[in-house]
Amino acid sequence: MAVKVAVNGFGTIGKRVAEAVLKQDDMELVGVTKTRPDYLAMLASKLGLLYVPQDRLEKFKKAGIEVQGTLEELLEKADVVVDATPGGVGKEYKPLYEKAGVKAIFQGGEKHDVAGFSFSTLCNYEEAEGKQFARVVSCNTTGLLRLICTLRKHFKVRSVRATIVRRGADPHETKRGPIDAIVPNPVTLPSHHGVDVKTVLPDLDIQTTAVVVPTTLMHTHILNVRLGEAVAREDVLRALEEAPRILVIPSELSGVKDTAKIIELARDVGRKRHDLYELAVYEESVAVEGDELFLMQAVHQESIVTPENLDAVRALFGLASREESLRKTDESLGLVRTFSEILELGARAFGK
Ligand code: NAD
Repeated sequence: MAVKVAVNGFGTIGKRVAEAVLKQDDMELVGVTKTRPDYLAMLASKLGLLYVPQDRLEKFKKAGIEVQGTLEELLEKADVVVDATPGGVGKEYKPLYEKAGVKAIFQGGEKHDVAGFSFSTLCNYEEAEGKQFARVVSCNTTGLLRLICTLRKHFKVRSVRATIVRRGADPHETKRGPIDAIVPNPVTLPSHHGVDVKTVLPDLDIQTTAVVVPTTLMHTHILNVRLGEAVAREDVLRALEEAPRILVIPSELSGVKDTAKIIELARDVGRKRHDLYELAVYEESVAVEGDELFLMQAVHQESIVTPENLDAVRALFGLASREESLRKTDESLGLVRTFSEILELGARAFGK
């Protein structure tokens, strides 16, 4: 039996999650919601999937966009709603989800307390089963947790220090900045990212600082991890290369040495909207001095949480084990684990 999934908020995250749900054989997309009549609303309407809050019906009628019904009616059809409304708006909908008796998955723009449980596939998949609410942590936190939980599988992680270089806006956001500044985010310690990681790994010694820069493509993390003992660089690289959802990029060999080139790679291998679901680690940045590990990684903020949202659906319902969900999600979305696999995608995208 397929789990019926609704998506509230059909924007950057919502449209990706909705499309990904359509690719799952154990999920059914029952509808999406929009609040404003724009081209995405027209697209959802064309697909016969558009629902709107009761108080917006008139607006959509005036715009001549056909809707299937109201958000309340959509929730009646759903087993779970993925709330992808703008940060802070999701909590306003929680009473409605409770009233409808549906499970709900919130996004990283909401506070941990909204769900009381923050989710990361590689860190705490099993803890989600039976819960009504989960919150898929933000893009930066998802990237940090994928790395940290992969390291913890192989080594003792004593502490993590990270500087987050955040993109100023998503590509379509013309009203956000900065345009010509590097903005401490915040200027005082800590940034919220380490605090957010601790919602999943409360025992971790982590401290983060952040700046926002004028770019739209990706975030970058500069990490310093203290391990339990001295380790070999090759052992760290092997652990990262074997891990799901992490792509180690041989930058010198491939010329993929920055975020613009990572996105160009995603375009060239045929990833829709240049999505890179994988956390990208620059191979040459991985350095070990005694028990200290240094590395740099890049996060495609618009798409990295898509796989985790699918896993969260399965985890809440106990539909599949973590390994099974990883396999289903990653195969259906075409995630890769190695650089040669992404080149194979590229060859297929060229028609070979
Ligand atoms: P977005 O602005 O691109 O999309 C939000 C959607 O919700 C839009 O379709 C908008 O029309 C709709 N909406 C607006 N107000 C609404 C309301 N009151 N009720 C219902 N729908 C409403 O936002 P986004 O970037 O997709 O972010 C969604 C969530 O995902 C936020 O919590 C955000 O923090 C989180 N997130 C965003 C990113 C990112 O880089 N964009 C990455 C990870 C997590």
